[in-house]
Amino acid sequence: MSEHTPARREDGAVVRQTGAPPTPPGKRASWLPGPAQGFGVTFATMFKKVTTEEYPDVPKQTKPRYHGRHVLNRHPDGLEKCVGCELCAWACPADAIYVEGGDNTEEARYSPGERYGAVYQINYLRCIFCGLCIEACPTRSLTMTNDFELADDDRQALIYTKEQLMAPLLPGMEQPPHPMRLGNDEKDYYVRDPKAAVPVDALGLARTGAEAVVEERV
Ligand code: SF4
Ligand code: SF4
Repeated sequence: MSEHTPARREDGAVVRQTGAPPTPPGKRASWLPGPAQGFGVTFATMFKKVTTEEYPDVPKQTKPRYHGRHVLNRHPDGLEKCVGCELCAWACPADAIYVEGGDNTEEARYSPGERYGAVYQINYLRCIFCGLCIEACPTRSLTMTNDFELADDDRQALIYTKEQLMAPLLPGMEQPPHPMRLGNDEKDYYVRDPKAAVPVDALGLARTGAEAVVEERV
């Protein structure tokens, strides 16, 4: 008997029930026999709204802020936003991210500023899609998409490389390495001061919606 079974008082004395409550013999919840009650449940279900989803033939629509597969974003000229700082890897509670930074040179520039992410991996066997990594990223390089179809029967294939995570090149973007097109230093990429930044249109780059499309972070 549960400790929460209420006690009752009889003739001034507290009486606690110590066994199962008595069930009246032969009493049923329905006058129908048991098999008829069972078929009744089946029959009633036939007229309920069907909730079966026809996935994968009909793709599942996620909520806009769903945390799915990651993406490494680009600047409007195609340079990578990742600066190889490893903050995402340090923030990850599952130790799912591996980053090795590399030095940019004037001959081979992959991002504005000094460094870029030379090696970048996310282990989706470990990732719990908590989103702490994208919160830690100072350049909004790392964001998350709505893509959830990550299942695979090959463990190695679930360790995504930088090439798999990089956002595609949109019109107006150029495959790195290449010189900075949006200004003379990295501030022109991050400080959106209209007086200080070089006008993008003057450089002939397609800016319209480019970042918005690449940045799928919500
Ligand atoms: S979503 Fe969470 S678990 Fe996955 S890589 Fe980012 S911080 Fe790590
Ligand atoms: S994705 Fe962001 S936090 Fe991670 S290394 Fe690149 S710049 Fe740093």
